[in-house]
Amino acid sequence: MSTARDIFLEHLRRKGLKVTRPRLRILETVLGRERFHFTADDLVGIVNETTRRKVSRSTVYRTLDLLEECHIVRKERIQEGFNCYEKAVGAEHHDHMICRECGRIIEFHSQQLEQIQDSVCHEHSFTPERHVLHIFGVCRRCAKKKKD
Ligand SMILES: [Zn+2]
Ligand SMILES: [Zn+2]
Ligand SMILES: [Zn+2]
Repeated sequence: MSTARDIFLEHLRRKGLKVTRPRLRILETVLGRERFHFTADDLVGIVNETTRRKVSRSTVYRTLDLLEECHIVRKERIQEGFNCYEKAVGAEHHDHMICRECGRIIEFHSQQLEQIQDSVCHEHSFTPERHVLHIFGVCRRCAKKKKD
């Protein structure tokens, strides 16, 4: 089995792109975190957190596109003009609750909900392959802030 790193290196080779230090650093940053949801700008900040050799914003953006092309990260359109990325390799299926006040993403998994979706598909003779479920609302923290 090839690792995410092998897949990425192969993808660069196929596109005739060089394996550069910034590209590898971006890859390692994404792979090194569990349950990590981020925007492209978040990643720019995190990649540059611990180093003085800054990676440019455009390099991060372009590298994210490459990572998405080879399915190491998945891009989800959360709202108009707001995309969020998450690691696609090694991640178990889950759905999201998204706070529209602070942007916090809460992951959840409900076996019941999954089963209901399967049976609804079955009723429509539809073969499901994947689904994305985002529930928008207000998180506990923001709800509390509003009350105070
Ligand atoms: Zn689900
Ligand atoms: Zn919130
Ligand atoms: Zn997630």
